[in-house]
Amino acid sequence: MNNTKYVFVTGGVTSSLGKGIIAASLAKLLQERGYSVTIQKLDPYINIDPGTLNPYEHGECYVTDDGAETDLDLGHYERFLNIPTSQANNVTTGRIYQSVINKERKGEFLGKTVQVIPHITDEIKRRIKLLGNTGKYDIVITEIGGTVGDIESLPYIESVRQLQWELGEDNAIVIHLTLVPYLAAAGELKTKPTQHSVKMLMQSGVGPNILVCRSEHEISDDIKRKLALFCNVKKEDVIQSLDAETIYDVPNLMFDEGLDSVVLKKLELSSEKQPALKEWNCFVQKYKNPKQTIEVGLIGKYVELHDSYKSITEAFIHAGSTHETKVNVRWIHSEELESGNIEKQLKGLDGVLVAPGFGERGIEGKIDAVKYARENNIPFLGICLGMQMAVIEYARNVLGLKEANSTEMNENTTHPVINLMEEQKEITNMGGTMRLGAWDCTLETESKTYEAYQNTNISERHRHRYEFNSDYKSQIEEAGMKATGINPKTGLVEVVEIPTHPWFVGVQYHPEYKSTVLNPHPLFLSFIEAAIAYSKN
Ligand code: GLN
Repeated sequence: MNNTKYVFVTGGVTSSLGKGIIAASLAKLLQERGYSVTIQKLDPYINIDPGTLNPYEHGECYVTDDGAETDLDLGHYERFLNIPTSQANNVTTGRIYQSVINKERKGEFLGKTVQVIPHITDEIKRRIKLLGNTGKYDIVITEIGGTVGDIESLPYIESVRQLQWELGEDNAIVIHLTLVPYLAAAGELKTKPTQHSVKMLMQSGVGPNILVCRSEHEISDDIKRKLALFCNVKKEDVIQSLDAETIYDVPNLMFDEGLDSVVLKKLELSSEKQPALKEWNCFVQKYKNPKQTIEVGLIGKYVELHDSYKSITEAFIHAGSTHETKVNVRWIHSEELESGNIEKQLKGLDGVLVAPGFGERGIEGKIDAVKYARENNIPFLGICLGMQMAVIEYARNVLGLKEANSTEMNENTTHPVINLMEEQKEITNMGGTMRLGAWDCTLETESKTYEAYQNTNISERHRHRYEFNSDYKSQIEEAGMKATGINPKTGLVEVVEIPTHPWFVGVQYHPEYKSTVLNPHPLFLSFIEAAIAYSKN
């Protein structure tokens, strides 16, 4: 008999309250107390996964080892918990309906009318319990995307109601995250929006067990009492969540407010062991007290929305903290570089990172940025499209193949140094068909990458359709750019470097997805180290 406990996190009043961070922080505290915990995100949109979404919609698409294209919150879960997530940790309405419809087509409903209740809710419950049923977790935290009251989240709330009824309130609890706004004109914190959102939740038959209230100001005992009375919870179940200086403070803040102990009490689990957060606090301490500052340029075409590069900026924080260095990011729009103002925009940078991306927009700017970093000996890290741009730049400006390009940008280029992978040629569906997830790579020992990883065999996550064209490999290598990392099975070039440059690395994979607080990514550590050295020149 499996006795996994379930915690649901719903959101009220407004979006962007940070449900993902609250869920991750609670999970961190429970993990530190010795429980095995995982977090799942249910997204109410109809897309099967966020893989086909433009980053402007919901930010970065995060990729797991098993090749799931997921919501960026899964990145927070991994960074906080230091354990990998999988396909089962992110489920969308699209996926739920797809499973139910597939079953219907197979005749598995035996002539019944297929309905939201019970068929869609059954499938939602099955997906929630899937993680619990692995027997690996004491506690599964399920974050329900969106805001209570949205039409599209109704089936999820109904599933939570049913699960709580089936499992009992000592096995399944609901944390409702809400906003307690401060009205400057009245000089007061207002509880009404929270009352309304709890009422909305109750109309669906779900009463929150715990309220976590985001607020810019201290929530007094009086207000807590008022919230408790009107929202049908105990006063000690009203937890304030004040704006934090950094997301990495939130586990400590939630511990101080007693969120984890209230949760354990409700789930009838022991709270004897205290969370130590020793390594975590060491990281936070270093992060907050840097000894020096560097500036790294992040060149991408989605820079207006910083969330589009969430894992990259978090990886900078992890690596920066290890080196006791504040890494300032200069956001540089690749399209704006195209007008030839490279020098002005990149001057003074200690490192240049050319970001992943798709399509033609802004790529000439990226290529110019690579050239600038290469010629000026500025540490350079190219990720995925960034690596491809580094290869194109080298082919054009060092080999003199002026027409060199990726067939993604110009199908008829005379020098397709980057081209569509063979297995991609027959693919017509766009969703979930890239080369995704973890693949092995073998590193040359004489390389910056090997120096960083201290290992010849690595495994990293991927998300791409195009690759380094091996027909050009010997030409490019002779000209000085080396392929230092190769997929041992397919021969695909995963890493390129310029050995004569102080630190110039392009990787076809995404190292940023695997950087966590307790395991800063070796390549980011090495890149930041090179940038620090450069800053001292
Ligand atoms: N658009 C490129 C490809 O599909 C790079 C993808 C990426 O940067 N994730 O290969």
